[in-house]
Amino acid sequence: MAPSVAIIGAGFGGLCMAIQLERAGIRSYTVFEKAGELGGTWRDNSYPGAGCDIPSHLYSYSFEKYASWTRRYPEQPEILDYLAHCADKYDIRGKIRFRTEVRRAVFDGAKWQLSTSCADSDDDENGGDNGERVEPFDVVVMGVGQLNRPRLPDIPGMADFDGVSFHSSRWNHDHDLTGRRVAVIGNGSSAAQLIPRVAEQAEHLYVFQRTPNWVIPKPDATFGPATKLAFHFVPGLQRVYREWIYRYAEGTLYPALAQGWSVNLLRQRALRHLRSQVPDPELRDRLTPDYPPGCKRVVIDSTFYPALTRPNVSLVTDKIVRITPKGVETTEGSYAVDTIVFATGFKSTEFLSPMEVVGLDGGSLEERWRDGAEAYLGISVPGLPNLFMLYGPNTNLGHNSIIFMIECQVNHIMACLPYLAANGPIEVRPEVMAAWRRQLDASMRRMVWGAGCQSWYKTADGRVTNNWPGPTTLYRRLTARPPHPAYRVVGTG
Ligand code: NAP
Repeated sequence: MAPSVAIIGAGFGGLCMAIQLERAGIRSYTVFEKAGELGGTWRDNSYPGAGCDIPSHLYSYSFEKYASWTRRYPEQPEILDYLAHCADKYDIRGKIRFRTEVRRAVFDGAKWQLSTSCADSDDDENGGDNGERVEPFDVVVMGVGQLNRPRLPDIPGMADFDGVSFHSSRWNHDHDLTGRRVAVIGNGSSAAQLIPRVAEQAEHLYVFQRTPNWVIPKPDATFGPATKLAFHFVPGLQRVYREWIYRYAEGTLYPALAQGWSVNLLRQRALRHLRSQVPDPELRDRLTPDYPPGCKRVVIDSTFYPALTRPNVSLVTDKIVRITPKGVETTEGSYAVDTIVFATGFKSTEFLSPMEVVGLDGGSLEERWRDGAEAYLGISVPGLPNLFMLYGPNTNLGHNSIIFMIECQVNHIMACLPYLAANGPIEVRPEVMAAWRRQLDASMRRMVWGAGCQSWYKTADGRVTNNWPGPTTLYRRLTARPPHPAYRVVGTG
């Protein structure tokens, strides 16, 4: 009999898992989604200008060709449309329990017991945690992502601000920015996308930059009718185009992150972009990073720098001291604003949190991961039988499409299902996990992320918990290996 599968999250990862189960004829699954809509990060990030800096044809499932892309780089609404199209085509919607957040997952020796809370629950004191137990599942697949919980900074006085403030991923669409004096705190990929749009509306925009980013151009373009027709009707065209983008990213961007032959190419490209878009040498100076390109996520955008040169935009690089009721105070002065946008990133290293996960030894995963999250292939953890993660620890990329990684993970899990169905719960062997950790550490040493900058890729004490340090072709090979002998049946040696 097919195992019952609980999929947590209806974003790119969770939907991919559900689709592959459907394609394999396995319908004994349920998707739990805490929000009222599918889409994950692409539902949450609806700020003006939100989009993806990986081309549409690669930022999509390899098995689901899509004729409706209107441009080279997809914007947020189009990505949501794509996900909705996939959910409808593979008949997933009816299998999603919306507004149901999984708060706790406990392995009882045979199955996973899940406790959920409904967003509609009256139990507000516990954040809606009514602790409802749902039916037990053989398998749990976590598809909650790495960038799902906003990180607000800890700046004194934030609670005293008289104006309107919100995080970039919780955009306040009721708050019209026309004629406002706006502060954007942060200058990462989200900020770079929203700043040009906010600048068009605001009377004045102050961009608070703590650390400059390396920025390279995003050669966006709309697809004309002929191109769209060609993508639709010419056999193999989408596949070849996708392959070409993939190979370019793998062949030129990855070596730069591994501090190989293309480091200077990336640096020169970014510096040329800066020189061509920012004529003022003093402003250019403040926008030039002093750490190697790729250490933080490179921003891919062609509209960010021009926005900073507008007369109604000021780049502020002094240290923020506090938020006052009237605005932002830095070491050098005060900036009166009525709106603050915190484009300050996500709690990226707190994988699965705040969900409580308890495995064979009765201890919580959070406790086990107190020095940083880790998982074999970013997918499995010893002592957590039949529990798998999508986009888990050390599977993020700084150079290619995360959808590729998700598909590798789903394929791996699909290969584990018959094995566990035939033998009972399986877990990855502790010695395999230890060897994996050693290999990861060794590969990580050559990567650019380790030294010279702080980023969302790593914990406060500098352990890179988020990124995959090898080529994605290697990841595909490793995840394609059969589960035996890396996994063992629980209770056997
Ligand atoms: P982020 O890259 O983590 O950037 C956060 C920004 O906030 C940084 O500039 C950071 O400065 C600043 N910041 C944080 N705390 C601060 C404080 N207390 N005072 C002043 N500044 C502070 O977050 P993000 O821009 O939301 O992007 C996160 C990731 O999402 C990206 O790296 C990317 O992988 C993904 N994303 C992708 C796309 C896409 O097109 N594919 C678009 C948006 C986002 P420091 O640098 O000094 O820490």
